[in-house]
Amino acid sequence: MQLIDKYSRRFQYLRLSITELCNFKCQYCLPDGYHPNRDHKFLSINEIDNVVAAFTELGVHKVRLTGGEPTLRRDFIDILALLSSYPTIKVRAVTTNGSRLVKNIDQWQAAGLNAINISIDSLSPHVFKMITGQDKLFELLRGVDRTLELGIKRVKINTVLMKNSNDNLVDYLAWIKDRAIDLRFIELMETGEDRTLFDRYHLSGSKIEKQLIEQGWQLQQKEQLAGPAKLYIHEDYQGKIGLIMPYSKDFCQNCNRLRISSIGKLHYCLFGDAAVDLRELLAAPTLREALKARILSSLSIKPEKHLLHDHNVGITENLSYIGG
Ligand code: SAM
Ligand code: SF4
Repeated sequence: MQLIDKYSRRFQYLRLSITELCNFKCQYCLPDGYHPNRDHKFLSINEIDNVVAAFTELGVHKVRLTGGEPTLRRDFIDILALLSSYPTIKVRAVTTNGSRLVKNIDQWQAAGLNAINISIDSLSPHVFKMITGQDKLFELLRGVDRTLELGIKRVKINTVLMKNSNDNLVDYLAWIKDRAIDLRFIELMETGEDRTLFDRYHLSGSKIEKQLIEQGWQLQQKEQLAGPAKLYIHEDYQGKIGLIMPYSKDFCQNCNRLRISSIGKLHYCLFGDAAVDLRELLAAPTLREALKARILSSLSIKPEKHLLHDHNVGITENLSYIGG
């Protein structure tokens, strides 16, 4: 059984949110910080095991843990070890704000982590603090260097582009000259809570793309089943630059991922207007066949593309809920 939708998109990649809790206050996500929702009980490790088992049986071989801030979970290492116990999961990834990176990356790697996306929205400490509410840039950068030292191959940096705040390429280019990092510029996406911020700060990735091309960067051919990012390379740089431009034409054509929220809902699109509740089927391995059937049937309602251009952001209030 394979996860293929009616537009012939194949899904072998699961993004699994394991908490909504976060210790940062990113302006575009949780500007007032995290406020607990009493109705939201996050998935237990047994429920995570059951959902991962079902998805691996449906052909998933890459799992990314996200949140909120996934590394704040006390059982984060146990969850990594759980992913490692599945031989078919080849890529065990996390997306993190990096606040625990320098102290813990050695342990995470030992537990099986082999891919990491670290969010760094500016290389200027002042701008970094303005965007995230945290004064941790230098600690984060030490964490990135330790990650590279450990030989982790898939290291990506996520930078959400914000007009007139962090869109000057000079510092980024100097930083990736001798570091084998994929730097990903992500266009700011509108969510239910941030229309005003979006109107003020949204910047099209095509502006960055134009500058890169002018400076000799070249578009890299996509591998089969690669996600929606456009990757640029340059012979003078060890690092690469990716552009994630959800507002560009045909962005959804290469969608290769499904998402589970921290409360067990399957989101077939980040900006969909509904989600499929899997929770009751996550309680025990005996429910596996019913769980797989529900996952498979929910694919039929995955839309061809999002409706962000019409400011239709679906049910997503902010991305801390399903993890971006
Ligand atoms: N807390 C972790 C972190 O920040 O890396 C993981 C969760 S966070 C929701 C995942 C990614 O989504 C981050 O790279 C973040 O910058 C990005 N993100 C959050 N809100 C966004 C928005 N409105 N537009 C674009 N990217 C966003
Ligand atoms: Fe927290 Fe990540 Fe959202 Fe920033 S983007 S507030 S680090 S969940």
